[in-house]
Amino acid sequence: MSETRDVVIIGSGPAGYTAALYTARANLNPLVIEGMQPGGQLTITSDVENYPGYPEGVLGPKMMEDFRAQAERFGTEVKFGMVTEVDFSSRPFTVKTEFDTFQAKTVIISTGASARLLGLEKESKLMASGGGVSACATCDGAFFPDKDVVVVGGGDSAMEEANFLTRYASKVTLVHRRPVFRASKIMLDRTEKNEKIEFLIPRTVEDILIGDDDKIRGVVLNDPSSGETMEFPCQGLFVAIGHVPNSKIFEGKIDMDDAGYIQVRNGTFTSVEGVFAAGDICDKKYRQAVTAAGMGCMAAIDAERWLEAQE
Ligand code: NAP
Repeated sequence: MSETRDVVIIGSGPAGYTAALYTARANLNPLVIEGMQPGGQLTITSDVENYPGYPEGVLGPKMMEDFRAQAERFGTEVKFGMVTEVDFSSRPFTVKTEFDTFQAKTVIISTGASARLLGLEKESKLMASGGGVSACATCDGAFFPDKDVVVVGGGDSAMEEANFLTRYASKVTLVHRRPVFRASKIMLDRTEKNEKIEFLIPRTVEDILIGDDDKIRGVVLNDPSSGETMEFPCQGLFVAIGHVPNSKIFEGKIDMDDAGYIQVRNGTFTSVEGVFAAGDICDKKYRQAVTAAGMGCMAAIDAERWLEAQE
């Protein structure tokens, strides 16, 4: 068991590293536990063009390297590891990874959210093997030049992915399980006007068909209105059906909404005094790198002032 730290930050996306930068500059010697995807979701993104301060845009992984370097410059300690268990029932709090156990006066949760998947047996396998299934068009779109691809989903993400993919693919078919869309009108209009995109609705993806080369050769689609099933050939499947907050380890330990997002009030205060949350783990509305970073700053200031008030 190590000494009690002032601040332990769980998660290493824009929220986590910004919280680290601010708490480090406040001489709180923060520890960042990186989590299963060091750098967060931006490390599986290519160009980031909407983060202020980068007029020419920046690659997501490069931006997260910069975030980390800036936090480390002021003394942030970064440890690789997955948090497996937390104990918020008494102070100091306990945070366990598969390698270590830490004690902390304050904890900042910035574990983000992950892409939701369809839950089909072959989906994750093909995703991991580069077999033509992806949850990130900006990461993988370039692998589908002149190919026919399917995008699943009816929200803004699906519209964004479908439009982005038309840069590479010869045809994009947007498949959605309902005849109505959650997407904003402007995004839906833009998608409907794109000549390379066709809509196939309502349809659900029942199965993924694999060719002799171990890559996707099509999907089995079901029409829920008629019950009819058809094979639909494609060389790529992009799943864009939303995100799931990475909050499993906090279940029962902190207040969350029905979808598992951590509830915050007065900025970044959670239901446990001394535990703060920032970024996509508590924000299902904005989900932007810049808003996550802003919340990370807020959490750092909230933690710093809360610590001061304890003395
Ligand atoms: P979302 O709005 O929750 O939409 C998810 C879509 O996936 C819904 O159409 C949903 O269908 C479908 N879906 C969910 N589970 C499914 C399943 N198991 N099988 C098939 N379909 C399934 O998520 P999002 O599109 O990621 O957007 C999230 C938030 O980010 C929104 O507030 C959005 O406006 C915002 N966003 C904004 C932009 C932008 O402005 N540039 C870009 C991306 C995202 P149902 O409708 O039937 O439930």
